[in-house]
Amino acid sequence: MTEIGSIVQHLLQFSPDSLLVVDQQGIIRYANDTANALFGYTPQQLVGQSLELLIPDRFRLRHGAHVAGFLHAPSNREMGARIADLYARRADGTEFPAGIRLAPLDNDQGRFIAVAVRDMTERRAISDALVAAREEADRANRAKSRFLATASHDLRQPLHAVRLLNASLLTLTRDNPQLHELLERQEYAIDGATRLLNALLDISRLESGAIDPQLTPVRVAGIFADLAREFEPSAASKRLDLRFADTPVVLMTDRMLFTQLLQNLIGNALKYTERGYVKVSQALEGDFVVLKVEDSGIGIPPDKLDRIFDEYYQVDPRGGQRAGVGLGLAIVREVSRLLGYTVSVDSKPGEGTRVRVSVPRQKLMSDSPVAAGEPRPGAAAAAARHSRIVLLEDNPSVRIATELFLQLEGYEVHSAASAAEAEPLLAKMEPADVLITDYRLDGAVTGLEVLQQVRARQGREVPAILLSGDLESMMRVIKSPPSRCRFLSKPVDTKALIEVITELGPH
Ligand code: ADP
Repeated sequence: MTEIGSIVQHLLQFSPDSLLVVDQQGIIRYANDTANALFGYTPQQLVGQSLELLIPDRFRLRHGAHVAGFLHAPSNREMGARIADLYARRADGTEFPAGIRLAPLDNDQGRFIAVAVRDMTERRAISDALVAAREEADRANRAKSRFLATASHDLRQPLHAVRLLNASLLTLTRDNPQLHELLERQEYAIDGATRLLNALLDISRLESGAIDPQLTPVRVAGIFADLAREFEPSAASKRLDLRFADTPVVLMTDRMLFTQLLQNLIGNALKYTERGYVKVSQALEGDFVVLKVEDSGIGIPPDKLDRIFDEYYQVDPRGGQRAGVGLGLAIVREVSRLLGYTVSVDSKPGEGTRVRVSVPRQKLMSDSPVAAGEPRPGAAAAAARHSRIVLLEDNPSVRIATELFLQLEGYEVHSAASAAEAEPLLAKMEPADVLITDYRLDGAVTGLEVLQQVRARQGREVPAILLSGDLESMMRVIKSPPSRCRFLSKPVDTKALIEVITELGPH
């Protein structure tokens, strides 16, 4: 044998992998030393035996099929789709997880199969530990999301009451400027807490995977118009030029999620811009519809750009503009993930920021029926306050706070703690009266069902306002909102509440 030949021979004998050569009948024709050691046989014991000797009984049938399949289409390949599937048997009957590679080996005596076997016990243990760690992390993350969702939901009721009480106190202290100013500051703080709660509830709901996007054709111009109305007051208060471009685009999207995504981007653009403009536009670029939110604000340092989508991350948490908690862009990230969009940001510190949301063109609807715009309170009619209010609210402190607030606003309020208690009040409702009810009530019925019952009994569209601590989930349950019925979220915006009562009341 040549010198190289003997080196190869040596390498083969002591290769780190166990090597076997098997003929077409599955008889072992060669086994290297590593194979003998791994399986616990002497060389004489293995050669001449069927390969089945090394395979646990329960795999034998499958193994036969494997060998037949391999001989039919020989190629260099890993055996079995997942390593978790494969086991080999030692001479003493014990088993070990095995990684097995097969390769065809042709010579003048015919076709053979080279088999390389590796003991995967350690690798399997590592991969099992990784899977367990990953599951544990996912479990912890889900528990965190559930905790956040429950905590923020439960905080809504008391905050809702505080908001109403503060609005009442503001009315009562009009003649006392000092006290009034203090309460205005308090209102500002309550607004901040409300924003935080909303963001926490949004992100935990998105992350928990509980949201299933409801796709309908949505006219982007309609969303732009709603957003313009929503953000114009804050743009005006900072003397910023807020512009929305015209757009003919109709997207197949989830109206609420899509709106939420743009709300967060526009809110940020306004928050981090002191002078100049915020522009919202759309362009068709190749296979994408690109929505752009651009501002002339403080910008983001380049080394921070890849962190801003992280939860609770803020570039300058002590900054003067600080009004958020670092969840806005995490919400944008989650919504984009759900809708299949990609978001990119480019920014120059001191000059401004441009965020691009790319929507794949196949999500574009060009000639679809256009979805009706979201119900909106019309221009608030002059306060026509002869309506009476029937208030159905099961939480006593919220009920008392709402009653007080509405009475101070000049309404006659009749309240009830349960659907049964509300019956006689509902029966006496006049056409000008408005029902305000919590969506989720103690007991079996929802506020919506109470409304449907009273409408059926009276044979008319009794006007109503439904309040909910989780407006988004409620709107997902209610596929087609009834007419002359408005939905508001808790903690309620007291001005919006009065606007909606005015709109629903007598004209
Ligand atoms: P926050 O609640 O602090 O606004 P976000 O998650 O919305 O949190 O944004 C994360 C950080 O990214 C912000 O704290 C801010 O520093 C930065 N940022 C986001 N949008 C802009 C923007 N348009 N201009 C400048 N900085 C921005």
